[in-house]
Amino acid sequence: MKLVFLGKQGSGKGTQAEIISRELGLCHISTGDLLRNTKGKIGKQIHSLIDKGEMVSDELIFEILKKRIKKPDCKNGFILEGFPRNLKQAIMLENQIDIDLIIEIYLPDNLVINRLIHRLNCSKCGAVFNSVTNPPKKSGICDFCGGKLIKRQDDNKQAIKKRLELYHKNFWPIIDFLRDKIIRIDGSKKIPEVTREILNALETF
Ligand code: AMP
Repeated sequence: MKLVFLGKQGSGKGTQAEIISRELGLCHISTGDLLRNTKGKIGKQIHSLIDKGEMVSDELIFEILKKRIKKPDCKNGFILEGFPRNLKQAIMLENQIDIDLIIEIYLPDNLVINRLIHRLNCSKCGAVFNSVTNPPKKSGICDFCGGKLIKRQDDNKQAIKKRLELYHKNFWPIIDFLRDKIIRIDGSKKIPEVTREILNALETF
């Protein structure tokens, strides 16, 4: 099964992709993690864009993504998160990767800001926690792999605002272009409830 999870930063798409990929034995691909893990000179250029809340070029991210989905751990399918982020990427996706379904996790902007300010990421496996709504069992330590939890550089008010502006500008053309494959889920509910709703949607699809 090839799925895309779409939603604003902080909508819970990363958390849900993590849970559901484990549950269904799919590989979880976050383009943000792919880019953050890119090393060398190109990695440095990418990291500087990310820290300012700016986008990496469509061609570069698509190349990195195509390489990733060819790896053996994606043979049963994947959940893609963080892509597409604009109409051009949506067209690349539709033309070159055969996606079964797109789950849009919806959250209003005020809740997004609240969540991102308290977000924590595992520096080792990329799992996502929230110091208020979804704290780890042991403070500062990942429940899944024992890695150190860190706050992302771009989870500051200025970069969050910039990412939200970009999202609003680019989001509607994507929705319009891919609308036949999209199911919308309310992301403001508690994590297990959102998971249940997504799994129900996948069963009926
Ligand atoms: P995320 O972890 O999804 O919040 O992504 C973090 C950052 O990585 C974004 O703010 C962008 O700078 C970059 N990025 C992630 N996915 C993409 C994409 N599909 N296209 C361009 N840049 C991306």
